[in-house]
Order: sequence, then structure tokens, then C-alpha cells
Amino acid sequence: MSSVTSEEQVRADDRAHVFHSWSAQGLINPLPIEKAEGSYFWDYSGKKYLDFSSQLVNINIGHQHPRLIAAIQEQAARLCTIQPAFANDKRGEAARMIAEVAPEGLNKVFFTNGGAEANENAIRMARLHTGRHKVLSTYRSYHGSTATAITATGDPRRWPNEPVAVGVVHFWGPYPYRSPFFAEDESQESERALRHLRDTIVFEGPGTIAAILLETVVGTNGILVPPPGYLAGVRAICDEFGIVFIADEVMAGFGRCGEWFAIDKWGVTPDLITFAKGVNSGYLPLGGVVISDEIAATFDERPFPGGLTYSGHPLACASAVASMQIFKEEGIIEHARALGEDVIGPGLARLKEKHPSVGEVRGLGVFWAIELVRDAARTPLVPFNAAGAAAGPMNEVANACKERGLWPFTHFNRVHVVPPCTTSADEVRDGLTILDEALTVADGFYT
Ligand code: PLP
Repeated sequence: MSSVTSEEQVRADDRAHVFHSWSAQGLINPLPIEKAEGSYFWDYSGKKYLDFSSQLVNINIGHQHPRLIAAIQEQAARLCTIQPAFANDKRGEAARMIAEVAPEGLNKVFFTNGGAEANENAIRMARLHTGRHKVLSTYRSYHGSTATAITATGDPRRWPNEPVAVGVVHFWGPYPYRSPFFAEDESQESERALRHLRDTIVFEGPGTIAAILLETVVGTNGILVPPPGYLAGVRAICDEFGIVFIADEVMAGFGRCGEWFAIDKWGVTPDLITFAKGVNSGYLPLGGVVISDEIAATFDERPFPGGLTYSGHPLACASAVASMQIFKEEGIIEHARALGEDVIGPGLARLKEKHPSVGEVRGLGVFWAIELVRDAARTPLVPFNAAGAAAGPMNEVANACKERGLWPFTHFNRVHVVPPCTTSADEVRDGLTILDEALTVADGFYT
């Protein structure tokens, strides 16, 4: 007898009792999903979708990896939970393995249940370490939906939550395609963005600033890859003013950019790295902060005033250990890098040649976005129709993908191409073929 609940029951329970994230509860009708495997998931009608979203850019190892499931089952049979004050083998092993792949000098890990809590605690550490209170973060960023993390967020998700936490100041990061600095090329963008950051610090008061928090590669706000020299410049500015550099790698880390940590690509060492998602592909909730020796030493004699009942949960940590072992043994990081260089990048470049609506293609690894425009002036193809309802051009593009069996990640005027790191080259090509067809819908709005 199947243990699977009927589609009608799933819908009925969901509509009656589940309160969904970020949604007007009366205006949604979530699609019931029955099962998943590898790069695909299925709805109850048996329709199969190629997952170009990785479930909020999370499931780097793919759906239902049998070795990861077995490792969780093995741990569950032995020890499901033990509170953080005890030492635990899987907690220690996960922390050691993360420190081994982190930049040199970052050797301790504070575990959380996800990305927002990781950023909350990184900010707390920076404040206590420096004795200063302000945090600088960028516009066009997302750092989570808890109090300080949503305040640090630099996109409209913050607005309805305000006022929340105090002490956050926003600045502009580089974005060559729509340069806030009117720069003509990447090196000018980098140079002007750094000058703007320095000016912001000087006018805010260097002695008041605890941390600069930024996404190494900006995720939901458009896959913005930093131009050459930018991250090294931020590091130099932090050193000059005694500011803690927090790299948010919740989305960009653990293989997504074809590196363990995205920042490895630029050879820059931040003071704190926040992670979640790809560390165990969300098979169980897990996130954390990787901490420099210098900041960790602040709390050698003085207690760290923060904690979580589930910090370093053995089941979640066992899944991180297994996931990292699988990554190493199956060469998943290298595969993700090669997919970006040989398949996704060139494939999207061909789509840009063909479709006038594709304004820009950018990314690396399995972390890409195409920006859709409606004219040569780069006017964004926004997701709203003339009446302001969310049923406009971008929804039509997304629906054209879904009808053809491709589940995309769309945000504002962009389609993000973010499949699992384990997706095969042929699966990616199948997805790009569907995207190619769907983009004719976007071309129809181009004038
Ligand atoms: N930071 C970044 C860069 C993210 O993309 C996200 C989530 O998408 C978060 C933080 C928040 O993570 P969580 O949803 O696990 O709290």
C-alpha cells in the first residue's frame, strides 16, 4: 500500500493549515510535489520537471542522493540529537572538514540552522570583537529574514519589515551592466566601487564600523560576479580601518561557483564566512559561521553570548560530513566548474546571440543569470503587467518553461540558471533547449 497522500489531500491540508513564506496566503496555490531524484522532481500527475532552481539554490548534490540518505539513516539509528554543550563525533568531523576547505586561518565553526542565523551570529561576533556597532552591507543583497539579517538585506524584501535592527548602513556594490558609478568597464567599476565604499566609511566614522557584510557573488539579486580587484580591495579597506570582513557564502559556497568557497576564486581571505544550503544540500537544516583564529580568540576567556538548541545537530552534521565526502570522491566541485565553462556559459552566450530580449549573461560554475530586457535601452522585462498584477511577461516566460518540463528560478527580470552541481552536461543542454524556446516569448515583448 502506498504511503503517499492523495494530491487532493495535500492541497486541502496546505490551503487550510500551512502559512507560507513571503506570500499573500489567499493568492497562492502551491503545486504538490510527489517525489524527486537527481536533477528532476515530479508532480502528482506524473509530470517530470528538470530542476533548474535547485530548490532555492540549495540542493547542490541533487535530489535523493542514495549515499547521503544512507548516512542520515545510519546516524539516526545511533544518535539523533545531543545538546550543544556535549562534544559529538559528527559535529567535530563536520567542523574539521569545513575548516580544511576554508581559507587558511579560519579554523573554527559555529553551527546554526540556516543562513539568516549564520549572518546574525557573524554580525554579533564582529560587534563583540571590535567593540563597534555599525554594519555596512550592499544594496542588491539578501542576507536572510531574521531581524539583523533582513535589515542588512539591500532589496525590497526589507521594506515591509522596517524598522527592525539598528546600525546597518547600505552602500553600492559593483554591477557593470547597470553601473551605479557610470563606469565604462569592469576595472573602472571596481575602482569606483572601492572609492565609494571608502567614502562611505569615512563619512560614517571608521571607528564606529564593526563589519562589512557582502555576498561574495550576489545571488538572488542577479548573480553579480565581482569585477577583478574588487574583493581584494575590500580586504585592504577592512585591514586599513580594522573592520571585520564577512563573506556571505550561503548561496555561493559549497560547489555552486565551482569552488568550495566562491572567494577561493579570487584568493581573498575574509575574517568570517557564513554558509548554509550547499553544505548538506538542505537534506536537514544546517548553516554556520567559519571563524578566523583572531576572532575566535576573542572568545577564549570571555563567553560568546549566543547559542541555539540545535547548534551542531548530530543528524545535520552527519549529513554535512557525508555530503563533503561525496563531493570529494565524485569530483563534484570540478564537475560544477566544468559545466559552467564548457556548457552553461557557452550555451547561454548562444542564446544571447539569438534572442534580442537577452540583455546580459553572467555567472560561473552552476550559478548563472540571464537578464531580460524589452529594448536597446536595457529596460527590464519586469514581472508585472500594466495593471500591476503579477501575470506579466516574466510569468509568461516562466510558464513557457514549466509547460515544457523545466522548472526555472525567476526573479524580477532575470532567469537564473542554477541546476544542481551534479547535473549532467546532457541534462543542462536539454534545459537550455527549453529555455531557448521560452525566450521567444520574451522576444515578443522586445521593441
Ligand atoms: N544569505 C544569502 C546569500 C542567501 O541567499 C540566503 C537565502 O537565500 C540567506 C542568507 C538566508 O538563508 P536562510 O534562508 O537559510 O535563512
